[in-house]
Amino acid sequence: MSLPSYCGRFAPSPTGPLHFGSLLAAFGSWLLARHAGGQWLVRIEDLDPPREVAGAAEEQLHTLIGFGLASDGKILRQSERGAVYQAALDRLLAEGTAFACHCSRSDLASNGGIHQRCVATTHRHGRSKQGPAIRLRVPAGTRLCFDDAVQGRITQDVSTEVGDFVLKRADGYWAYQLAVVVDDAAQGITDVVRGADLLDSTPRQILLQRALGLPTPRYTHLPLVIDKAGRKLSKSLAALPIDAGDPLPALRAAWQALGQPPAALAHVDTVADALAAAQDAFAPQRIPNAPIALHNMRVTDAV
Ligand code: GLU
Repeated sequence: MSLPSYCGRFAPSPTGPLHFGSLLAAFGSWLLARHAGGQWLVRIEDLDPPREVAGAAEEQLHTLIGFGLASDGKILRQSERGAVYQAALDRLLAEGTAFACHCSRSDLASNGGIHQRCVATTHRHGRSKQGPAIRLRVPAGTRLCFDDAVQGRITQDVSTEVGDFVLKRADGYWAYQLAVVVDDAAQGITDVVRGADLLDSTPRQILLQRALGLPTPRYTHLPLVIDKAGRKLSKSLAALPIDAGDPLPALRAAWQALGQPPAALAHVDTVADALAAAQDAFAPQRIPNAPIALHNMRVTDAV
């Protein structure tokens, strides 16, 4: 059996119920996967217990089912994958690409929080239970460039804009950047489709893919949703949970936010019919790159 030529994913962190921005990423990645005749997987990014809410992962999965969005394969949970992340980290440590770092936030404050060399004066584990963080070394002049399907060409000087970045935190938890790269490769993800809030993480992820000898997927960053006042959705009232019991209004609003013609979903009355109609009418080139203002979408009764 040959590998599918397209495999997309939706990868929520279980920090609370899914909101409209999450639905946009889920529906957008699902539509692009279906349009390409590919697979769509769900992965639970439960890496950060202090930020997680008990039961949120199950609630998110339940909400996705309410919207007709079911994973085509096994649902991966990052909390179960520590050994795989450790193997990747060990390889980077052995190659000298990763290093242990005792710098604290305040040590780095004078450099805008950016780590370019270790400046810690004391070793933290002398006075607390925390171990060192492990960072990826980003040599001076590391400029990364990639072509995003919606946002166009993106260039970032990772050494000056981000610096040496964390792979394993001082508190022992895995960093998102390492886990996402290892898992996108492990799941055979060919296309990462997600919100534009993660655009500036992508150069770090491409650097890590190269350091680990992993393929780089194609990237599509969907527009952010902002409210009337121009605030990010997560800061506004519209970050309220979406209702799996009444999915059609939010599904229609997400469809419209993806730049698709409202008429295509105007006359459906079940989720299954909405998804079928959406699949038929979807055109990826209509996805806008500019942030979408919520008040243009009549979404308020949907969220
Ligand atoms: N888990 C991340 C989030 O919920 C998304 C990761 C990704 O799509 O790469 O923000």
